[in-house]
Amino acid sequence: EDNLSAQVLQGLNGGSWIRKLFEEGTRLKAIHGADNVCDFSIGNPVIDPPASFLKALQEEVASAAHGSHSYIPNQGLPEARAKVAQFLSERFAVSIRHEHVVMTVGAGGALNVALKAILNPGDEVIVLVPYFAEYKGYIENYGGHAVPCLLTEDFQPDIERLAQVITPRTKGIIVNTPHNPTGAAFEQARLDALGKLLQDAQHKYGHSIYMLFDEPYSQLIYDAQLANPFISYNRVVVASSFSKDLGIAGERLGYIALAEDTPNAELLTNAFVYCNRTLGFVNAPVLMQRAVARMDSLKVDAYGYRERRDLIVSVLEEAGFTFTKPEGGFFVFPKSPIEDEVAFCQHAAQQYRILIVPSRGFGLPGYFRLSFSVSPEQIERSRPLFKALMNDFK
Ligand code: PLP
Repeated sequence: EDNLSAQVLQGLNGGSWIRKLFEEGTRLKAIHGADNVCDFSIGNPVIDPPASFLKALQEEVASAAHGSHSYIPNQGLPEARAKVAQFLSERFAVSIRHEHVVMTVGAGGALNVALKAILNPGDEVIVLVPYFAEYKGYIENYGGHAVPCLLTEDFQPDIERLAQVITPRTKGIIVNTPHNPTGAAFEQARLDALGKLLQDAQHKYGHSIYMLFDEPYSQLIYDAQLANPFISYNRVVVASSFSKDLGIAGERLGYIALAEDTPNAELLTNAFVYCNRTLGFVNAPVLMQRAVARMDSLKVDAYGYRERRDLIVSVLEEAGFTFTKPEGGFFVFPKSPIEDEVAFCQHAAQQYRILIVPSRGFGLPGYFRLSFSVSPEQIERSRPLFKALMNDFK
């Protein structure tokens, strides 16, 4: 087909049903108006950035000096890296130095940089199923293979299954908590057990294995505590962003960070900086780095998302869906009342103008994903619709 990459064409066709649903959503909105469609399909932060960020951004723009918009070092501005280092050091009670922080183009950029830095073709990276659909593409960008490993029924890392999927080719695992698409916050004890497995595997195979810790929802956490990967393991690469907690997903600012005592921290950092450059990112958006560096604190309040989480839980419970209550992030992952969840999602769109995402794109059929990063009004409006939808399958 037009002499394009076979891998890209395969990826394009693989998502065709997602596109169909998306087109159906666009069609419904055009006919009935966006306010008459309940769109739960989009993972965009609905809450605007905190006043502290907007103020810092305004001050930055107002005071921009000659050269403020030029290239900066590939690693990022020292003052932005220092801010991230301080924030993460406090959160994880571990020493993270700005020398071991690299500013990136979002968490997506961070993961691509980290994967490029560690992967040789044929290497394996474990992904916990269901998984953020982009992981597979990110891993394959560098000739790696994504090795799926199913989470437990309540969406926690399954240590027995993990032990079975580690091979001599395992180079890393991506751990995302709070988790997209399920909303689970992984327990410390599970991470500890995973850390032990990885430690044993490093010993057995005589090479390094990395835990890529993807935590863009870490400040959107409601009932649980964020597990601390640095307690569990010694080769942790935090690859994350400000997209969700600061609500600046479109501004593309993320970071990679290593603890000071990570083996070969300097070599690893140099590799990340090299990859940031050679992947063509060059440096992360500089205005955003300056704005973040100006903020007193990177901490945010998740109240607005907690309120939405509680609302959607009551809507889904009332309708009779089976699901695990999300502890963080802004997604929930209920069971489809019929095996064919694509048919279920199509029915929801056609009969009730409810847009939800079939789960097979996340590597696990039989469920659907719903984003509660929407207005509380929309969640309330959907209450009778979800009830009626569920009744159709009773
Ligand atoms: N990782 C997870 C689990 C996500 O859900 C997302 C975005 O939805 C990303 C990474 C990418 O984040 P960013 O927009 O910062 O690149």
